[in-house]
Amino acid sequence: MNIGLMAHDSKKKLMQNFCIAYRNILSKHQLYATGTTGRLVEEVTNLTVHKFISGQYGGNQQLAAQIEHNVIDIMIFFRDPDAPRRNEPEIKNVMKLCDSNNIPLATNIATAELLIKSLERGDLEWREMYR
Ligand code: PGA
Repeated sequence: MNIGLMAHDSKKKLMQNFCIAYRNILSKHQLYATGTTGRLVEEVTNLTVHKFISGQYGGNQQLAAQIEHNVIDIMIFFRDPDAPRRNEPEIKNVMKLCDSNNIPLATNIATAELLIKSLERGDLEWREMYR
């Protein structure tokens, strides 16, 4: 399955720790991420991540395009609800496209853990058919 990863700056450490904790599961799948998030995940996990350009330069839109084409099966987006964002419309678009395409989206670690455990159990195989 194709897993999208993105984290706001204040949540990047959390994303790194999440990916370390679930490295074994993540290693069985393809990872796609905005530039900085992807680089930081690669640094601590040694997993290969398909990296788009940095979010602030359009990486959010690149990731959104993959979501729009239904390429991404699961989206993990650790967002900081309090951070004022320059690119808020692009961020909202990522979430909107997940909803439009019925792509499971986790915006915090509690839901991300549920999703990743569901993935490991095979609960998300319907995505293969849906695609
Ligand atoms: P980044 O993009 O991973 O390149 O920082 C995400 C964001 O825009 O916050």
